[in-house]
Amino acid sequence: MPTTHKTRMLIIGSGPAGLSAAIYGARAGMEPIVVQGLQPGGQLTITTDVENYPGFRDVIQGPWLMQEMQAQAEHVGTRMLWDTITEVSMEGSPFRAVGDSGDIYEGDVLVIATGAQAKWLGVPGEVEFSGKGVSACATCDGFFYRGKKVVVIGGGNTAVEEALYLTNHSPDVTLIHRRDSLRAEKILQDRLFAHPNVKVLWNKAVESFSGDLGGGGLQAVELVDTVTGEKSSLATDGAFVAIGHAPATELFKGKLELDESGYIVVQPGTPKTAIPGVFACGDVMDHTYRQAVTAAGTGCMAALDAERFLAELDFAALQSEAAE
Ligand code: NDP
Repeated sequence: MPTTHKTRMLIIGSGPAGLSAAIYGARAGMEPIVVQGLQPGGQLTITTDVENYPGFRDVIQGPWLMQEMQAQAEHVGTRMLWDTITEVSMEGSPFRAVGDSGDIYEGDVLVIATGAQAKWLGVPGEVEFSGKGVSACATCDGFFYRGKKVVVIGGGNTAVEEALYLTNHSPDVTLIHRRDSLRAEKILQDRLFAHPNVKVLWNKAVESFSGDLGGGGLQAVELVDTVTGEKSSLATDGAFVAIGHAPATELFKGKLELDESGYIVVQPGTPKTAIPGVFACGDVMDHTYRQAVTAAGTGCMAALDAERFLAELDFAALQSEAAE
């Protein structure tokens, strides 16, 4: 028998954005429900070392950080529920979502924190060497390659920015692109081509990642020339896959405005969507920063705006009661 769960604040997604919204929401008395989704804890649960989340002098583990955030959210009164939302209706408050389990979730406000996933090449060795030389985030992992040789795969803004970022740590950065021109903005391309630490390998696709799974980690990327078909191997200590991200917004197509890459459009500088009472925070609305700390920040903003929205709603209800 399906259950209906009612709350003042319904949060979909349990990464840093969703859990930060929950912590603030719970402390403001909104008794939030977080529906955790397919990857409870979000992208940080598939990373290992985290060195850039403020507050921790020593390296911490991504999964541990998410467990702590969840425990903190629960400690202040959040209800965590395991389900995958398959349907949402957003005609107006209360907002209604239906889970895979058949359960129904109703929230006076809806906070969308469904995140994004890095796109991967899907070639042999990529999964095996993930965290052992293969990464999708230079800001997160670049520091571990100080003084080492790294490659970046991709030709868009992300790839070029990641390559430039890596020059802070590495004297030898190679950008590998499958075509003979980049799609990144010209100003970024100019910076890339002018940088003495960067080489670009054109018309090359990565066929596989190779190395020593026993402890040595990634040692090379195996390449094929996309024009001649010629194969080659490039020795490297680290490989950063930067071929784009896919925000988890399938549920919201046709209901909320999405940009050309599928991210939820919010009012600039806020987590407010075009629908009053529906907020989006974290990577689902941010294709620029994509950090745990920025996701947590926008989660906090969503909770503060949710609280204001509910205060106005309650005031309007009181006024209409008084008028009757
Ligand atoms: P993009 O979709 O712009 O670029 C992806 C790149 O990866 C393309 O060069 C593409 O090649 C390549 N690629 C895709 N699939 C494969 C594959 N299977 N094998 C090899 N290469 C592949 O993604 P970005 O993440 O770079 O950017 C996404 C959006 O975010 C863009 O709108 C971008 O402008 C924006 N952004 C803005 C930033 C800023 O303003 N500072 C920073 C970062 C992103 P090909 O070119 O051949 O298609």
